[in-house]
Amino acid sequence: MTELNNQLHHIIETINLAENQAGIKPNSVQLLAVSKTQSAEIIRQVAESGQRRFGENYLQEALVKMSSLADLSIEWHFIGPIQSNKTKDIAANFDWVQTVDRLKIAQRLNNQRPNNIGKLNICIQINIDNEVTKSGIAAADVFSLAEQISQLNNLQLRGLMIIPTNTDDPVQQQHSLNQAHKLFIELANLYPSVDTLSMGMSADMTTAIAEGSTMVRIGTALFGERR
Ligand SMILES: *Cc1c(COP(=O)(O)O)cnc(C)c1O
Repeated sequence: MTELNNQLHHIIETINLAENQAGIKPNSVQLLAVSKTQSAEIIRQVAESGQRRFGENYLQEALVKMSSLADLSIEWHFIGPIQSNKTKDIAANFDWVQTVDRLKIAQRLNNQRPNNIGKLNICIQINIDNEVTKSGIAAADVFSLAEQISQLNNLQLRGLMIIPTNTDDPVQQQHSLNQAHKLFIELANLYPSVDTLSMGMSADMTTAIAEGSTMVRIGTALFGERR
């Protein structure tokens, strides 16, 4: 309990410091706690320390935990790859989906979103480094997908999500983050609902904030190594 609480506060301090160094408003960068493989009990402890947003990658695992945490007001973000046959449960149970990278998935989420729970918040995942093994749309195709999503009534386009390539080269890393930020600014100029650039994980959160991230997705630095 205390250990997790300490870790959470340490991360919040790291974010605040990075905000300060970047010259942006304190508490303007949001923390998404990435809780894949973590138990419902662990999530409950972190939620009770004041953390509200949690990200999950695997639908079945997430649904089990959600039902035992239904008494808490957690904002759930889906951040894993999406297969078509999973969209119904994702649309019914999550508040955000950050990994939309094709129209077919967006249309299914839109059609399957129950209309008594408000719009589903959407980030388009960009494959910023054009990696063959990674999901995400090519940067060049972001604007046409955004336009199509903006016309789907049960979805709210919120922004972009990126997972940059694993590299030790700070120049390449900064280039990717910077390119994502430019696309985000262009998109935000076109769509007033766009306010989120989901970028930065445990290893690169400070750099990501310096490059304009508005939401960092933190797993290991908060919960420790995944089992
Ligand atoms: C697992 C995961 C994270 C968290 O990564 P850490 O390095 O553990 O902080 C962030 N984003 C996505 C999409 C993930 O799958």
